[in-house]
Amino acid sequence: MSQKRIALFGSTGSIGTQALDVIAANPDLFSAEVLTAQTNDTLLIKQALQFNPNIVVIGDEKKYPIVKEALAHTHTKVFAGEKALEEVASLDCYDMMLAAIVGYAGLKPTLCAIEIGKPIALANKETLVVAGDIIMRTAAEKRIPIIPVDSEHSAIFQCLVGEGRNRIEKIILTASGGPFLGKKPNFLVNVKKDHALQHPNWTMGAKITIDSATLMNKGLEMIEAKWLFNLTYDQVQVVVHPQSIIHSMVQFTDGSIKAQMGLPDMKLPIQYALAFPNRIHNDFPRYDFKKPGTLTFEEPDTKTFRNLALAMEAMKQGGNMPCILNAANEIAVYAFLRNRIGFLDMTEVVEQTMARIPFLPEPTLEEYFETDGEARNFAASLIHM
Ligand code: NAD
Ligand code: MG
Repeated sequence: MSQKRIALFGSTGSIGTQALDVIAANPDLFSAEVLTAQTNDTLLIKQALQFNPNIVVIGDEKKYPIVKEALAHTHTKVFAGEKALEEVASLDCYDMMLAAIVGYAGLKPTLCAIEIGKPIALANKETLVVAGDIIMRTAAEKRIPIIPVDSEHSAIFQCLVGEGRNRIEKIILTASGGPFLGKKPNFLVNVKKDHALQHPNWTMGAKITIDSATLMNKGLEMIEAKWLFNLTYDQVQVVVHPQSIIHSMVQFTDGSIKAQMGLPDMKLPIQYALAFPNRIHNDFPRYDFKKPGTLTFEEPDTKTFRNLALAMEAMKQGGNMPCILNAANEIAVYAFLRNRIGFLDMTEVVEQTMARIPFLPEPTLEEYFETDGEARNFAASLIHM
């Protein structure tokens, strides 16, 4: 393999920093060509000094002078602002984008990369939730792969290698159940952010950790899977598997089920996406069948964790409904993280926004942007932010 130049969008986040660990461990295979961050100038500067990228982008324009000054003695070019993310994504200076920005903000740069024909390692699930039809269609036109980084989708992708046109009967997405597995609304109503931020199996950014606690994350992942693997809504099933050892499964037309397993460590799916189609050696801890342990499975409780039911409903309706769901959820999660609303209020915000914003069965890209803005404004008005 020749060295692959990676444009790492969202390099200071949980996925971004773990991706840099993978790059640092394999300097002959990967280089960090582009690094971007929204606000964390200190970490971005540190990363740039270590990895020597061609370009860095700091989203927050106020931080530009600090980053510029700190990297003045290097050859790294520094840009700032939201537009710069799109402009840099459109430059033909890298081989693969790792889309690791969180939320809707990741959509436009990722689309720019697809439009110039760059393969994508996709962590940012919201991109597919918002505009999965346009993303997948454009990627197919440009003949570029979208390789999932999300552990469940990486598992399915790995199960599908070598299966050619064999028909998928359904996929089974595993869910840890989050920190509140088995709890009921009378408990959840009092949950505060510090508790919700404690995930049993994974250490992740704040937004996805809250989404995991409400099961919205699994709902977003169902929609993500539908687009990635070209499935209908009734081909996507969720099963709760608290140990997070089976990362997901595919059931084929003959009833045979393939599962991908391993210890929960995001560096593995990140490394797989960057190196695909090759597997490369690492020293990550291995799952040991000799140690006593039980793998268990149960139905998700969609009556208590209504976000999952709402996401299933949005997936079934299609059109701009997942975009509405996502926008309302982003507003609700950040309001919860600022202690403005309670845990169960997040679901209310999403449900009311889905009921309010006009449904469009086949939105254009512009209409997705408009839907996102309208849904955010309405959701924010419910919170009185
Ligand atoms: P994070 O909050 O830790 O990091 C987010 C990154 O995006 C940071 O580098 C930040 O600077 C950047 N960013 C934030 N807002 C931005 C904006 N408005 N414009 C530009 N950049 C912005 O998030 P994370 O946990 O690393 O998750 C990143 C994405 O990967 C999410 O979509 C998440 O759902 C997905 N994902 C994460 C994990 C995980 O283990 N963390 C697992 C599966 C999927
Ligand atoms: Mg996941």
